[in-house]
Amino acid sequence: MSDNATHPPVGEEVIVHMENIVKRFGRTTVLDGIDLDVHQGEVVTLIGPSGAGKSTLLRCVNGLERISDGRIEVDGQRLSYSEADINRLRAHIGMVFQQFNLFPHMTVMENIMVAQREVLGRSADEARERGETLLERVGLAHKAKAYPGNLSGGQQQRVAIARALAMDPTVMLFDEPTSALDPELVGEVLDVMRTLADEGMTMMVVTHEMRFARNVADRIVLLADGGIAEQGPPEQVLDSPSSERGRTFLEELL
Ligand code: ADP
Ligand code: MG
Repeated sequence: MSDNATHPPVGEEVIVHMENIVKRFGRTTVLDGIDLDVHQGEVVTLIGPSGAGKSTLLRCVNGLERISDGRIEVDGQRLSYSEADINRLRAHIGMVFQQFNLFPHMTVMENIMVAQREVLGRSADEARERGETLLERVGLAHKAKAYPGNLSGGQQQRVAIARALAMDPTVMLFDEPTSALDPELVGEVLDVMRTLADEGMTMMVVTHEMRFARNVADRIVLLADGGIAEQGPPEQVLDSPSSERGRTFLEELL
């Protein structure tokens, strides 16, 4: 789709299917009929003003929030909200938050092993081996025995990404993964994400990093006022937005 993206071509298969998603909190309608499909290997970046519902949308995809109306399918399975269903769903969706959410009392390696053991039933050896491979991939093989509190924010976020990847997710969701980082640490996390994209991972990324959106995303989706105000390849959305809402939002960024 995007000329800039260097990662493999986007596949036909729909990994995340969202149909008429409505989400209300009490009387407030936050998402008002969102239709969005994310395809195999596609990187979709969600942008939009604060309070637009970006986090809520991601949280609906992995069942942290229950939709008020509509339909969500992940990997062809409709989300039903039974406990078994939610657990199965979460096992295959990687989520990375602004706050790294590592377990502070566990080492880096223990953090990466625990869900592999408890959710996927992997042996300790298997989980450790996978952990070693992934730590190497995010450049932190030497930190396996460290505790999160002794790592920089950028390192913690890379561990959080490795931990999510250890579950062999079909899709990775990122909610402002670099917003809590000191500016000099942002790049190392974005580099890991870009590598993932290049390897063909399906990703939904909420971010304010417009350079990442421009260079890595196949598609940018601008959320505003409960709906999709604008979507398309990065250069189209960023350089010639077609909606008034899109123009205002992007002008404020510059
Ligand atoms: P964004 O991530 O785009 O900044 P959010 O998805 O966090 O926006 O929030 C969208 C709107 O939903 C905001 O008005 C927020 O106050 C409201 N909201 C989010 N979570 C809840 C909740 N658990 N209860 C009530 N309102 C919420
Ligand atoms: Mg948010």
